[in-house]
Amino acid sequence: MSEFFNQISRRKFIVTAGVSAGAVLLKGCLENPPEPGGIAQAKQAEAVKLTPEITPETTTVKLGYIPIVEAAPLIIAQELGFFKRWGMTNVQLAKQASWGSMRDNTEIGSAGGGVDGGQYQMPMPHLMTEGLITKGNTKIPMYVLAQLNTQGNGIAIANKHAGKEIGLDLAKGGKIVFDQLKSTKNPFTAAFTFGKVNQEFWLRYWLAAGGINPDTDVKLIPVSAAQTVANMRTGTMDAFSTGDPWPYRIVKDKIGFLAVLTSEMWKNHPEEYFAMKAEWVDTHPKATKAILKAIMEAQQWLDNFENREAAAAILGRRNYFNLTPTFLKDSLQGNYDMGNGRVINDKSMAVLYWKDERGSVSYPYKSHDLWFLTESIRWGFLPPEYLNKAKDLIDRVNKENIWREAAKEAGIMEADIPTNTSRGLETFFDGVTFDPENPTAYLKSLKIKKVNI
Ligand code: CA
Repeated sequence: MSEFFNQISRRKFIVTAGVSAGAVLLKGCLENPPEPGGIAQAKQAEAVKLTPEITPETTTVKLGYIPIVEAAPLIIAQELGFFKRWGMTNVQLAKQASWGSMRDNTEIGSAGGGVDGGQYQMPMPHLMTEGLITKGNTKIPMYVLAQLNTQGNGIAIANKHAGKEIGLDLAKGGKIVFDQLKSTKNPFTAAFTFGKVNQEFWLRYWLAAGGINPDTDVKLIPVSAAQTVANMRTGTMDAFSTGDPWPYRIVKDKIGFLAVLTSEMWKNHPEEYFAMKAEWVDTHPKATKAILKAIMEAQQWLDNFENREAAAAILGRRNYFNLTPTFLKDSLQGNYDMGNGRVINDKSMAVLYWKDERGSVSYPYKSHDLWFLTESIRWGFLPPEYLNKAKDLIDRVNKENIWREAAKEAGIMEADIPTNTSRGLETFFDGVTFDPENPTAYLKSLKIKKVNI
């Protein structure tokens, strides 16, 4: 067991890493709290002795990310030297202007000035593999390799709707706002930054659970994050489905309030994923595992809440989120001022990266891929025949076996390596259940849906 030190300006915290077996026991110890806006300077983690079996085929890779808390494992792996530690000495993290750019830059790959993989909403990798969201419907085979995080997202509502009982359960009173607006020429308008993925799914699930048909009772549109905030301020937009730190900014700037956290809708839900182009992974299997080991170590570091103040300082850096750490540190601790008098202060509701109450966060359960594909069928984003095609598509895209191999090589303890590709039965806030063994039953049980089933 050896130690390395990270310095956040003049503050020190200690990370203990088991270098011999690669097992990581990370203990953060913050001697002094970081100054707001402090520039973090982290020393590098100690390198692992690279035997031929684990020496990566290349030291270079380019990974794209969007500046929201989902990207934290990539940024921490870079800044604390976890990538370097496993031999990936030239990892470039490329901040993407939008999810559309992330998709397009994946398509062209690093050789063309794009990226080899990185952070994705779901089921982007599956849709790209099928050529459903790429230019000219080109099939870009992708591999899902790890989940980056759970939770850390929410639905923000413009302040003009304050005091109208728009909360978790819309049937309790908030629904009337939607009904009234529907009868005018300006139905309730809600935005997300990219359609047919997580953000739209959370919004649609929440609305439908409250008796509101997202296809006929409201207007859902993709809008850039900055534009949405501007539109909510002027009152032309009613809601915004997004991830931290945006909800905090909306509340602190008094633009709106948080109706619901995604952790309230579906605790420990699947969120964003680490995926790469299949071609890159097939060419560089050891480098892929080196990247995964670094991400796993970063995820463990992040889930030590004593490290989260330091994490806020690192993520806030100009080249990453370009935010003072104040915008991040409360939500990273599970402390949410919802902006309507409600406060949630519960670490189990915060963004989590390594483990949650259901088990592994990092491990990419195939049952969660299936939920995203099933939900795509529910809303007509995928034709119903995908109920039969889902298993084959998931088997082609989800490479949980590579995650397992990397975890073993990194010395992750057995208890943290799931033995089943299904997380089992999932239960939503409205009592609806999703049994991965029977997605058709889930679709049948839903009152509001587009698919005829
Ligand atoms: Ca998200």
